[in-house]
Amino acid sequence: TRAYNFCAGPAALPEAVLRRAQAELLDWRGIGLSVMEMSHRSDEFVGVASKAEQDLRDLLAIPANYKVLFLQGGASQQFAQIPLNLLPEGGTADYIDTGIWSKKAIEEARRYGTVNVAASAKSCDYFRIPRQEEWTLSPDAAYVHYTPNETIGGLEYDWIPDTGDVPLVADMSSTILSRPLDVSRFGLIYAGAQKNIGPSGLVVVIVREDLLGRARSSCPTMLDYKVAADNGSMYNTPPTLGWYLAGLIFEWLKEQGGLEAMGQVNRRKQQKLYEFIDASSLYSNPIATADRSWMNIPFVLADAGLDKAFLAGASARQLLNLQGHRSVGGMRASLYNAVSEAAVDALIAYMAEFEKENG
Ligand code: PLP
Repeated sequence: TRAYNFCAGPAALPEAVLRRAQAELLDWRGIGLSVMEMSHRSDEFVGVASKAEQDLRDLLAIPANYKVLFLQGGASQQFAQIPLNLLPEGGTADYIDTGIWSKKAIEEARRYGTVNVAASAKSCDYFRIPRQEEWTLSPDAAYVHYTPNETIGGLEYDWIPDTGDVPLVADMSSTILSRPLDVSRFGLIYAGAQKNIGPSGLVVVIVREDLLGRARSSCPTMLDYKVAADNGSMYNTPPTLGWYLAGLIFEWLKEQGGLEAMGQVNRRKQQKLYEFIDASSLYSNPIATADRSWMNIPFVLADAGLDKAFLAGASARQLLNLQGHRSVGGMRASLYNAVSEAAVDALIAYMAEFEKENG
């Protein structure tokens, strides 16, 4: 039997998708080859790739004036690729600091120009997201970058910033596809695949067409969004297996009823875990209620001396990967799309039992 996997990433994938991939592994739809063994330029793979793109467009209702790119290098490479494409030499970009991932994006962008940290959650120990009234945006920013969901800290915006004509750039790695999204509010969205999209090794970029063709001359060809867009993300050999698996996930999401339906399930999943944590005297989560992540729920035990026993008991019950990120400790339950409501119920039942015995 498969365990319940609360890993922050690479994360749980839907069992139905894995079974389908397994069934197609040796012989993809009767052609006698696996997807990994076919040319990326073959009719078969081009069909797989364009269906995946279309399904993602359908799920997110992506407007026609946006390109969808399937790239490599993970979300971390985007930390450099964004300024190389969107920040002119000598230009300024605004960044919002809400935790470890936004800080990584800030540090990398500083290599390419002036970064104005327009707001930071540092003053409140990263327990609360600064409201837009508290931001100091620069008048001449090339773009505004933010991290809608901080995977490690467990903070998530329940609102989309309004940056007027200045393009809004979002690292959606750990929240994309968790619920419906108004893509038209963004200049560029990027997401590492290994949470709600598929296996690692793939990053999806959704970019408004007017932002293409702005790369600085020193930008490597491979990192120029326009080159990727003009070549259908096949300027070089793309990560074909990851692209195919992402396509299976998009089909699965459609079968579940799309993002409205996923959003309802995800709302319930996080609500019940936070409610349980808030009512308990053993577990706690420090994040301001309005800024709590739906996907990544960190919590600590009142006595850290119990951590080891908690994790051992969880593993014995097939509740895996609950330890917090190595930089913060404690616990973290990631509740991505492939983590079922039954998994959350099993986790809560175990937490209650552990509290009864140790609280
Ligand atoms: N941004 C966020 C919000 C993340 O959660 C992660 C990874 O977990 C990254 C960026 C880095 O992604 P990658 O490992 O694909 O570079």
